[in-house]
Amino acid sequence: MTWEPRPLPSVTPETAPYWEATADDQLLLCHCTACDLTYYYPRSRCPDCLSDAVEWQEAAGTGVVYSHTATELVSEWPEEALPVVVAYVELDEGPRVLTNLVDCDPADVAVGAPVEVTFVETGADLSIPVFELRE
Ligand SMILES: [Zn+2]
Repeated sequence: MTWEPRPLPSVTPETAPYWEATADDQLLLCHCTACDLTYYYPRSRCPDCLSDAVEWQEAAGTGVVYSHTATELVSEWPEEALPVVVAYVELDEGPRVLTNLVDCDPADVAVGAPVEVTFVETGADLSIPVFELRE
């Protein structure tokens, strides 16, 4: 699959390590060493205790579908890239990630279904983490 026609993310100094890791098929989370919270999306300060004692942690890349929807029609979208399945995936580490599920029939997607991360190359120096159903 290709990422187009979706736009590429904006890389900031705060999120650069996250996006650089995606080029190596690694999904990173932030871990606060002050209060032990693991969170997503990447931020330099803990969203719970506001500490800046934050380190990068590689995620296992597995989780379950928390919520999902699918659309069969997107304006000016290539037909071969439809349907688009949008989901919240709850990672094994706890954080929920808004993402796409790929290579699946929307009818096979269910809350609680196990999923695993995969990466879509973009032609830029970063890849996009998405998820696919696993057995
Ligand atoms: Zn914290």
